[in-house]
Amino acid sequence: MGSRVNTVLTIPEPGKTALVQKPYPSIKAGYVVIKTEIAPVCLEGTRIWAEHDFEFHDDPQHLGHEGVGTVVDVIDGSNFSVGDRVIVFQGDHCGQCHACNSGLSPTYCDANDPDVVGPDNAAMHGIERRNDSASGGFAMATHRIAPEANLYKIPDALPFRYAAAANCSFGVGFSNQENMDVKAGDTVLVGGVGFIAMGHVISALYRNATVIALMRNAYRRQLLTDMGVVHFVNPDDPDWLEQVRALTYRGQGVDHAIDSSGVPYYQERLIDATRKYGNINFSGHTPGAHLELHPLKHVIDPAHTLWGQHDVRARDRERLIRALCNPDVQRMVDVMVTHEFPMSRASEAFELQVSKQCGKIYLWTQQ
Ligand SMILES: [Zn+2]
Ligand SMILES: [Zn+2]
Repeated sequence: MGSRVNTVLTIPEPGKTALVQKPYPSIKAGYVVIKTEIAPVCLEGTRIWAEHDFEFHDDPQHLGHEGVGTVVDVIDGSNFSVGDRVIVFQGDHCGQCHACNSGLSPTYCDANDPDVVGPDNAAMHGIERRNDSASGGFAMATHRIAPEANLYKIPDALPFRYAAAANCSFGVGFSNQENMDVKAGDTVLVGGVGFIAMGHVISALYRNATVIALMRNAYRRQLLTDMGVVHFVNPDDPDWLEQVRALTYRGQGVDHAIDSSGVPYYQERLIDATRKYGNINFSGHTPGAHLELHPLKHVIDPAHTLWGQHDVRARDRERLIRALCNPDVQRMVDVMVTHEFPMSRASEAFELQVSKQCGKIYLWTQQ
């Protein structure tokens, strides 16, 4: 591997990016090296670039978890070949925990849990450590290491830009809706619309559910209109609840309510608008925000079920990729992905994300 290098995106201080050259990744059995093509922006803009606020799995030198690319290095005996196009479902894989044995999301694998293996050994830092590699655990770089168990081979006919929606946008919405069993004829209310909610909207429309959007952001309202959503309610309207109920069967309330805002302003409304025995899904969080939950009022009396899940369950991967091959899903992904930037211009991408005048943003890492 000699003189090859890995070009890695860093955010050394708030509002600043820098490309840094690190040693090319080294791998051990069970892992491959991928030349990443697209690293979609998750919360790197709002959380890290703007605030320098980090979670256990990232820091100024280690950024990005979503991605697609091409396998460029394997070890003898690998199930993958150089040239395979793959989706990376983030994190490591232990193969033996409850999540691994049940086909659940790798976020819940013991190998990615800092409380089980310690923060230095968990998730993508752990991938670099277990491979004795000086780089490669993360998505916002030209090259990345991933465990074979968390790779999915992309069908030849599926372009990278649609496969890249398999992580924290359409993928998360799709897997949460498999979990909740969203069906044709159901009514789905989304509140506070960001890119995860947009993934939920695409998934709900793909399932022939009726979508109602409780939202105020005019730019994103136009995106949902372009996807095919026709029902919008302004949560500031005094009669917002009557408006939502009027759109549901017998006025009984929505079957599924999905929060993408992470704030009680929306969460309380979503709970109020859900029918008896309906589902409440939490797909967003805002640091410092707290919902005051009254078990009798919010759960027992309405018989609500509360849901939430990061990431994509392994058991949902095939159906997710089959959905991404659907032309109407691809049309909606084209609406959701409003901007694409070369990684060398990542600051512009992050600034745009902070403005909220965008849908999902892609970084092309080889440019
Ligand atoms: Zn595991
Ligand atoms: Zn993400």
